[in-house]
Amino acid sequence: MIRGQHLTKSFGSQRVVDDVSFEAAEGEFVALLGPSGGGKSTVLRMVAGLETPDSGSVLIRGEDATSTAVQKRGLGFVFQHYALFKHLTVRDNIGFGLEIRKTDKAEVRRRVDELLDLVQLAGFGDRFPAQLSGGQRQRVALARALAPRPQILLLDEPFGALDAKVRIELRAWLRKLSREQKITCVFVTHDQEEALELADRVVIIHRGKVEQIGRPEEVYDQPATPFVASFIGSSNVLTGTVQEGRTAFGELNVGAPHHVEDGAGVRAFVRHHQVEIIGRSDKTSKTDGLALAKVSHITRIGWVARIELVLDDGRHLIAELPKDRLESLAISDGAEVFVSLRNASVFVDAPLGDGVEDYVI
Ligand code: ADP
Ligand code: MG
Repeated sequence: MIRGQHLTKSFGSQRVVDDVSFEAAEGEFVALLGPSGGGKSTVLRMVAGLETPDSGSVLIRGEDATSTAVQKRGLGFVFQHYALFKHLTVRDNIGFGLEIRKTDKAEVRRRVDELLDLVQLAGFGDRFPAQLSGGQRQRVALARALAPRPQILLLDEPFGALDAKVRIELRAWLRKLSREQKITCVFVTHDQEEALELADRVVIIHRGKVEQIGRPEEVYDQPATPFVASFIGSSNVLTGTVQEGRTAFGELNVGAPHHVEDGAGVRAFVRHHQVEIIGRSDKTSKTDGLALAKVSHITRIGWVARIELVLDDGRHLIAELPKDRLESLAISDGAEVFVSLRNASVFVDAPLGDGVEDYVI
Protein backbone atom coordinates (compact mmCIF):
# COMPACT_ATOMS: atom_id res chain seq x y z
CA MET A 1 0.00 0.00 0.00
CA ILE A 2 1.21 3.44 -0.83
CA ARG A 3 -0.42 6.78 -0.26
CA GLY A 4 0.34 10.41 -1.03
CA GLN A 5 -1.52 12.86 1.20
CA HIS A 6 -1.94 16.52 0.30
CA LEU A 7 1.39 16.58 -1.53
CA THR A 8 2.47 20.07 -2.51
CA LYS A 9 5.66 21.21 -4.19
CA SER A 10 6.92 24.46 -5.72
CA PHE A 11 10.02 25.13 -7.76
CA GLY A 12 10.84 28.81 -7.27
CA SER A 13 7.53 30.65 -7.48
CA GLN A 14 5.86 27.94 -9.56
CA ARG A 15 3.61 25.53 -7.68
CA VAL A 16 3.91 22.37 -9.77
CA VAL A 17 2.11 19.97 -7.42
CA ASP A 18 -0.87 21.35 -5.51
CA ASP A 19 -2.53 19.26 -2.81
CA VAL A 20 -2.34 15.90 -4.57
CA SER A 21 -3.72 12.89 -2.69
CA PHE A 22 -4.02 9.36 -4.05
CA GLU A 23 -3.60 5.80 -2.95
CA ALA A 24 -2.51 2.49 -4.46
CA ALA A 25 -3.81 -0.50 -2.51
CA GLU A 26 -1.75 -3.66 -2.20
CA GLY A 27 -1.32 -5.28 -5.61
CA GLU A 28 -3.12 -2.41 -7.33
CA PHE A 29 -1.95 -0.85 -10.59
CA VAL A 30 -2.45 2.92 -10.50
CA ALA A 31 -1.64 5.23 -13.40
CA LEU A 32 -0.89 8.94 -12.97
CA LEU A 33 -2.11 10.36 -16.27
CA GLY A 34 -2.05 13.88 -17.67
CA PRO A 35 -0.41 16.19 -20.15
CA SER A 36 3.32 16.89 -20.03
CA GLY A 37 4.41 19.44 -17.48
CA GLY A 38 1.43 18.72 -15.21
CA GLY A 39 3.51 17.52 -12.25
CA LYS A 40 3.19 13.73 -12.55
CA SER A 41 6.92 13.00 -12.34
CA THR A 42 7.29 15.36 -9.41
CA VAL A 43 4.54 13.45 -7.56
CA LEU A 44 6.28 10.15 -8.28
CA ARG A 45 9.66 11.55 -7.24
CA MET A 46 8.18 12.66 -3.91
CA VAL A 47 6.80 9.16 -3.39
CA ALA A 48 10.22 7.76 -4.23
CA GLY A 49 12.03 10.14 -1.90
CA LEU A 50 13.95 11.83 -4.71
CA GLU A 51 12.17 15.11 -4.02
CA THR A 52 10.99 16.51 -0.67
CA PRO A 53 7.42 17.80 -0.50
CA ASP A 54 6.89 21.35 0.79
CA SER A 55 3.91 19.94 2.62
CA GLY A 56 1.94 16.73 2.73
CA SER A 57 3.10 13.23 3.46
CA VAL A 58 3.91 9.85 1.95
CA LEU A 59 2.71 6.65 3.59
CA ILE A 60 4.28 3.34 2.64
CA ARG A 61 2.72 0.16 4.00
CA GLY A 62 0.79 2.30 6.45
CA GLU A 63 3.81 4.08 7.89
CA ASP A 64 4.86 7.68 7.43
CA ALA A 65 7.84 7.59 5.09
CA THR A 66 7.96 11.30 4.24
CA SER A 67 11.46 11.68 5.60
CA THR A 68 12.71 8.14 5.03
CA ALA A 69 15.80 7.90 2.77
CA VAL A 70 15.26 6.66 -0.80
CA GLN A 71 17.13 3.38 -0.24
CA LYS A 72 15.12 2.59 2.88
CA ARG A 73 11.70 2.92 1.25
CA GLY A 74 11.84 -0.56 -0.26
CA LEU A 75 10.68 0.60 -3.69
CA GLY A 76 11.71 -0.44 -7.19
CA PHE A 77 12.04 2.20 -9.93
CA VAL A 78 11.97 2.12 -13.67
CA PHE A 79 12.39 5.41 -15.49
CA GLN A 80 12.54 6.15 -19.18
CA HIS A 81 16.03 7.56 -18.87
CA TYR A 82 17.21 5.37 -16.04
CA ALA A 83 19.92 3.92 -18.23
CA LEU A 84 21.57 0.55 -17.74
CA PHE A 85 25.24 0.41 -16.85
CA LYS A 86 26.88 0.19 -20.29
CA HIS A 87 30.04 -1.52 -19.14
CA LEU A 88 28.18 -4.25 -17.24
CA THR A 89 26.59 -7.33 -18.80
CA VAL A 90 22.84 -7.92 -18.59
CA ARG A 91 23.49 -10.39 -15.78
CA ASP A 92 25.56 -7.89 -13.78
CA ASN A 93 23.05 -5.11 -14.41
CA ILE A 94 20.23 -7.24 -13.01
CA GLY A 95 22.31 -8.40 -10.05
CA PHE A 96 23.61 -4.93 -9.23
CA GLY A 97 21.08 -4.11 -6.51
CA LEU A 98 21.70 -7.48 -4.86
CA GLU A 99 25.50 -7.21 -5.01
CA ILE A 100 25.46 -3.85 -3.22
CA ARG A 101 23.29 -5.46 -0.55
CA LYS A 102 26.07 -8.00 -0.13
CA THR A 103 23.83 -10.88 -1.09
CA ASP A 104 25.49 -14.29 -1.26
CA LYS A 105 27.01 -14.96 -4.75
CA ALA A 106 25.12 -18.19 -5.36
CA GLU A 107 21.87 -16.53 -4.34
CA VAL A 108 22.54 -13.61 -6.74
CA ARG A 109 23.14 -16.10 -9.55
CA ARG A 110 19.93 -17.94 -8.80
CA ARG A 111 17.84 -14.79 -8.60
CA VAL A 112 19.35 -13.37 -11.82
CA ASP A 113 18.57 -16.63 -13.67
CA GLU A 114 15.03 -16.50 -12.38
CA LEU A 115 14.63 -12.89 -13.54
CA LEU A 116 16.18 -13.57 -16.96
CA ASP A 117 13.48 -16.19 -17.41
CA LEU A 118 10.78 -13.89 -16.13
CA VAL A 119 11.66 -11.10 -18.56
CA GLN A 120 12.14 -13.65 -21.33
CA LEU A 121 15.81 -12.92 -21.81
CA ALA A 122 17.32 -16.27 -20.83
CA GLY A 123 20.41 -16.67 -23.01
CA PHE A 124 21.05 -12.90 -23.12
CA GLY A 125 22.79 -12.71 -19.74
CA ASP A 126 26.30 -12.24 -21.13
CA ARG A 127 25.39 -9.52 -23.61
CA PHE A 128 26.07 -5.85 -23.04
CA PRO A 129 23.25 -3.26 -23.22
CA ALA A 130 24.47 -2.01 -26.62
CA GLN A 131 23.78 -5.48 -28.04
CA LEU A 132 20.09 -5.35 -27.11
CA SER A 133 17.03 -3.74 -28.71
CA GLY A 134 15.22 -0.91 -26.89
CA GLY A 135 12.46 -3.23 -25.69
CA GLN A 136 14.98 -5.75 -24.38
CA ARG A 137 16.86 -3.01 -22.52
CA GLN A 138 13.66 -1.85 -20.83
CA ARG A 139 12.98 -5.43 -19.75
CA VAL A 140 16.48 -5.58 -18.25
CA ALA A 141 15.72 -2.33 -16.41
CA LEU A 142 12.54 -3.93 -15.07
CA ALA A 143 14.41 -7.08 -14.03
CA ARG A 144 17.00 -4.93 -12.25
CA ALA A 145 14.22 -3.10 -10.38
CA LEU A 146 12.54 -6.37 -9.45
CA ALA A 147 15.69 -8.15 -8.27
CA PRO A 148 15.47 -7.10 -4.60
CA ARG A 149 11.78 -8.19 -4.58
CA PRO A 150 10.17 -4.80 -4.02
CA GLN A 151 6.48 -4.97 -3.20
CA ILE A 152 6.03 -1.58 -4.79
CA LEU A 153 7.23 -0.53 -8.21
CA LEU A 154 7.32 3.06 -9.47
CA LEU A 155 7.47 3.51 -13.22
CA ASP A 156 7.89 6.84 -15.00
CA GLU A 157 7.05 6.64 -18.71
CA PRO A 158 9.16 3.47 -18.92
CA PHE A 159 8.11 2.70 -22.48
CA GLY A 160 8.08 6.27 -23.76
CA ALA A 161 11.09 5.95 -26.02
CA LEU A 162 10.03 2.70 -27.69
CA ASP A 163 8.14 2.23 -30.94
CA ALA A 164 4.41 1.56 -30.83
CA LYS A 165 4.48 -2.19 -31.38
CA VAL A 166 7.09 -2.91 -28.71
CA ARG A 167 5.32 -0.56 -26.33
CA ILE A 168 2.07 -2.50 -26.68
CA GLU A 169 3.86 -5.82 -26.14
CA LEU A 170 5.66 -4.57 -23.05
CA ARG A 171 2.43 -3.15 -21.65
CA ALA A 172 0.71 -6.52 -21.82
CA TRP A 173 3.76 -8.18 -20.36
CA LEU A 174 4.04 -5.72 -17.45
CA ARG A 175 0.34 -6.07 -16.66
CA LYS A 176 0.66 -9.84 -16.48
CA LEU A 177 3.83 -9.67 -14.43
CA SER A 178 2.40 -7.22 -11.89
CA ARG A 179 -0.72 -9.38 -11.48
CA GLU A 180 1.18 -12.63 -11.11
CA GLN A 181 3.69 -11.20 -8.66
CA LYS A 182 1.06 -9.05 -6.89
CA ILE A 183 3.26 -5.98 -7.12
CA THR A 184 1.76 -2.59 -6.30
CA CYS A 185 2.53 -0.32 -9.27
CA VAL A 186 2.39 3.43 -9.69
CA PHE A 187 2.87 4.19 -13.35
CA VAL A 188 3.29 7.69 -14.84
CA THR A 189 2.24 8.31 -18.42
CA HIS A 190 0.87 11.05 -20.67
CA ASP A 191 -0.58 8.38 -22.96
CA GLN A 192 -4.27 7.84 -22.18
CA GLU A 193 -4.44 4.57 -24.07
CA GLU A 194 -1.56 3.19 -22.04
CA ALA A 195 -3.15 4.32 -18.77
CA LEU A 196 -6.64 3.06 -19.57
CA GLU A 197 -5.33 -0.28 -20.71
CA LEU A 198 -2.90 -0.95 -17.86
CA ALA A 199 -4.41 0.54 -14.77
CA ASP A 200 -6.95 -0.64 -12.22
CA ARG A 201 -7.38 3.03 -11.37
CA VAL A 202 -6.34 6.24 -13.05
CA VAL A 203 -5.39 9.50 -11.32
CA ILE A 204 -5.77 12.36 -13.78
CA ILE A 205 -3.38 15.20 -13.01
CA HIS A 206 -3.51 18.58 -14.72
CA ARG A 207 -1.56 21.70 -13.74
CA GLY A 208 -0.48 20.12 -10.48
CA LYS A 209 -3.96 19.14 -9.34
CA VAL A 210 -5.97 15.94 -9.29
CA GLU A 211 -8.90 16.29 -11.69
CA GLN A 212 -10.39 12.85 -11.12
CA ILE A 213 -9.57 9.43 -9.69
CA GLY A 214 -11.47 6.46 -11.03
CA ARG A 215 -11.48 3.18 -12.86
CA PRO A 216 -10.68 3.52 -16.58
CA GLU A 217 -14.33 3.14 -17.60
CA GLU A 218 -15.38 5.73 -14.99
CA VAL A 219 -13.05 8.44 -16.22
CA TYR A 220 -14.11 7.65 -19.78
CA ASP A 221 -17.87 7.38 -19.24
CA GLN A 222 -18.32 9.82 -16.35
CA PRO A 223 -15.67 12.50 -16.61
CA ALA A 224 -15.80 14.66 -13.48
CA THR A 225 -14.52 17.86 -15.06
CA PRO A 226 -14.51 19.50 -18.49
CA PHE A 227 -10.78 18.91 -18.61
CA VAL A 228 -11.17 15.14 -18.17
CA ALA A 229 -14.00 15.09 -20.73
CA SER A 230 -11.78 16.78 -23.27
CA PHE A 231 -8.53 14.99 -22.43
CA ILE A 232 -9.84 11.41 -22.41
CA GLY A 233 -11.16 10.20 -25.73
CA SER A 234 -12.49 12.66 -28.26
CA SER A 235 -15.78 14.46 -28.20
CA ASN A 236 -18.00 16.94 -29.96
CA VAL A 237 -18.35 20.08 -27.88
CA LEU A 238 -21.71 21.83 -27.83
CA THR A 239 -23.00 24.80 -25.88
CA GLY A 240 -26.62 24.80 -24.84
CA THR A 241 -29.14 25.78 -22.19
CA VAL A 242 -31.19 23.91 -19.62
CA GLN A 243 -34.93 23.92 -20.30
CA GLU A 244 -37.50 21.97 -18.29
CA GLY A 245 -35.12 19.26 -17.14
CA ARG A 246 -33.47 18.80 -20.51
CA THR A 247 -30.30 20.30 -21.94
CA ALA A 248 -31.11 21.70 -25.35
CA PHE A 249 -28.72 22.37 -28.20
CA GLY A 250 -30.98 23.77 -30.88
CA GLU A 251 -33.29 20.90 -31.69
CA LEU A 252 -31.09 18.27 -30.07
CA ASN A 253 -31.30 17.52 -26.38
CA VAL A 254 -30.11 15.25 -23.59
CA GLY A 255 -30.99 14.97 -19.89
CA ALA A 256 -29.90 17.91 -17.71
CA PRO A 257 -27.63 17.52 -14.70
CA HIS A 258 -29.44 17.50 -11.36
CA HIS A 259 -30.15 20.72 -9.47
CA VAL A 260 -29.68 23.00 -12.43
CA GLU A 261 -32.06 25.88 -12.96
CA ASP A 262 -33.85 26.55 -16.19
CA GLY A 263 -31.96 28.93 -18.38
CA ALA A 264 -28.48 27.91 -17.14
CA GLY A 265 -25.80 27.83 -19.82
CA VAL A 266 -23.97 24.54 -20.22
CA ARG A 267 -21.16 23.01 -22.20
CA ALA A 268 -21.54 19.42 -23.25
CA PHE A 269 -19.05 16.84 -24.44
CA VAL A 270 -20.65 14.30 -26.74
CA ARG A 271 -18.60 11.25 -27.66
CA HIS A 272 -18.66 10.37 -31.33
CA HIS A 273 -20.45 7.11 -30.61
CA GLN A 274 -23.11 9.03 -28.64
CA VAL A 275 -24.31 10.76 -31.80
CA GLU A 276 -26.98 8.61 -33.33
CA ILE A 277 -27.96 8.67 -36.98
CA ILE A 278 -31.63 7.75 -37.04
CA GLY A 279 -32.03 7.48 -40.79
CA ARG A 280 -32.21 9.34 -44.07
CA SER A 281 -34.56 12.32 -43.94
CA ASP A 282 -36.46 11.06 -46.97
CA LYS A 283 -37.23 7.79 -45.20
CA THR A 284 -37.72 8.89 -41.59
CA SER A 285 -40.26 11.13 -40.00
CA LYS A 286 -39.08 13.95 -37.79
CA THR A 287 -39.90 13.73 -34.11
CA ASP A 288 -38.83 15.71 -31.03
CA GLY A 289 -35.14 15.58 -30.26
CA LEU A 290 -34.11 14.95 -33.85
CA ALA A 291 -32.21 17.47 -35.92
CA LEU A 292 -31.63 17.56 -39.64
CA ALA A 293 -28.01 17.25 -40.76
CA LYS A 294 -26.09 16.85 -43.97
CA VAL A 295 -23.35 14.25 -44.31
CA SER A 296 -20.24 16.10 -45.41
CA HIS A 297 -17.73 13.27 -45.29
CA ILE A 298 -17.46 9.58 -44.41
CA THR A 299 -14.23 7.86 -43.43
CA ARG A 300 -13.96 4.13 -42.83
CA ILE A 301 -11.31 3.01 -40.36
CA GLY A 302 -11.32 -0.74 -39.80
CA TRP A 303 -14.80 -1.70 -38.66
CA VAL A 304 -15.77 1.84 -37.67
CA ALA A 305 -17.25 4.53 -39.89
CA ARG A 306 -16.67 8.16 -38.96
CA ILE A 307 -19.27 10.52 -40.31
CA GLU A 308 -18.84 14.27 -40.43
CA LEU A 309 -22.14 16.10 -40.24
CA VAL A 310 -23.27 19.69 -40.61
CA LEU A 311 -26.46 20.51 -38.74
CA ASP A 312 -29.15 22.73 -40.16
CA ASP A 313 -28.00 25.55 -37.87
CA GLY A 314 -24.42 25.28 -39.18
CA ARG A 315 -22.89 23.40 -36.26
CA HIS A 316 -20.53 20.51 -36.98
CA LEU A 317 -20.81 17.06 -35.41
CA ILE A 318 -18.85 13.85 -35.77
CA ALA A 319 -20.61 10.51 -35.40
CA GLU A 320 -19.01 7.09 -35.23
CA LEU A 321 -20.83 3.84 -35.85
CA PRO A 322 -20.06 0.28 -36.88
CA LYS A 323 -19.59 -0.08 -40.62
CA ASP A 324 -22.46 -2.55 -41.01
CA ARG A 325 -24.80 0.00 -39.41
CA LEU A 326 -23.65 2.56 -41.98
CA GLU A 327 -24.43 0.11 -44.76
CA SER A 328 -27.93 -0.58 -43.45
CA LEU A 329 -28.56 3.18 -43.27
CA ALA A 330 -27.56 3.44 -46.94
CA ILE A 331 -26.08 6.92 -46.66
CA SER A 332 -23.23 8.53 -48.52
CA ASP A 333 -21.63 11.97 -48.82
CA GLY A 334 -24.26 14.66 -49.31
CA ALA A 335 -27.12 12.64 -47.78
CA GLU A 336 -29.57 14.38 -45.45
CA VAL A 337 -30.20 12.54 -42.20
CA PHE A 338 -31.90 12.94 -38.85
CA VAL A 339 -29.60 12.75 -35.86
CA SER A 340 -30.12 12.60 -32.11
CA LEU A 341 -27.88 12.49 -29.06
CA ARG A 342 -27.82 9.37 -26.92
CA ASN A 343 -26.05 10.98 -24.04
CA ALA A 344 -23.46 13.60 -23.13
CA SER A 345 -21.30 14.85 -20.28
CA VAL A 346 -22.84 18.17 -19.37
CA PHE A 347 -21.12 20.85 -17.31
CA VAL A 348 -22.68 24.04 -16.05
CA ASP A 349 -20.64 27.24 -16.29
CA ALA A 350 -17.74 25.51 -17.96
CA PRO A 351 -16.21 27.99 -20.30
CA LEU A 352 -13.37 26.80 -22.46
CA GLY A 353 -9.97 28.05 -21.41
CA ASP A 354 -8.04 26.67 -18.47
CA GLY A 355 -6.34 24.18 -20.74
CA VAL A 356 -9.52 22.54 -21.99
CA GLU A 357 -9.45 23.90 -25.53
CA ASP A 358 -6.11 22.24 -26.22
CA TYR A 359 -7.74 18.85 -26.17
CA VAL A 360 -11.01 19.50 -27.93
CA ILE A 361 -11.05 17.72 -31.25
P1 ADP B 1 5.16 15.81 -15.88
O1 ADP B 1 5.89 14.62 -15.40
O2 ADP B 1 3.69 15.75 -15.67
O3 ADP B 1 5.49 16.12 -17.31
P2 ADP B 1 6.91 17.29 -14.11
O4 ADP B 1 6.61 16.87 -12.73
O5 ADP B 1 8.12 16.72 -14.75
O6 ADP B 1 5.63 17.10 -15.03
O7 ADP B 1 7.10 18.86 -14.15
C1 ADP B 1 6.12 19.77 -13.67
C2 ADP B 1 6.69 21.18 -13.76
O8 ADP B 1 7.75 21.32 -12.84
C3 ADP B 1 7.26 21.52 -15.12
O9 ADP B 1 6.93 22.85 -15.41
C4 ADP B 1 8.73 21.34 -14.93
O10 ADP B 1 9.45 22.18 -15.79
C5 ADP B 1 8.92 21.76 -13.48
N1 ADP B 1 10.05 21.08 -12.83
C6 ADP B 1 10.18 19.74 -12.64
N2 ADP B 1 11.32 19.47 -11.95
C7 ADP B 1 11.91 20.64 -11.71
C8 ADP B 1 13.12 21.03 -11.03
N3 ADP B 1 13.92 20.12 -10.47
N4 ADP B 1 13.40 22.34 -10.97
C9 ADP B 1 12.58 23.27 -11.53
N5 ADP B 1 11.43 22.98 -12.17
C10 ADP B 1 11.10 21.68 -12.28
MG1 MG C 1 7.20 13.36 -16.43
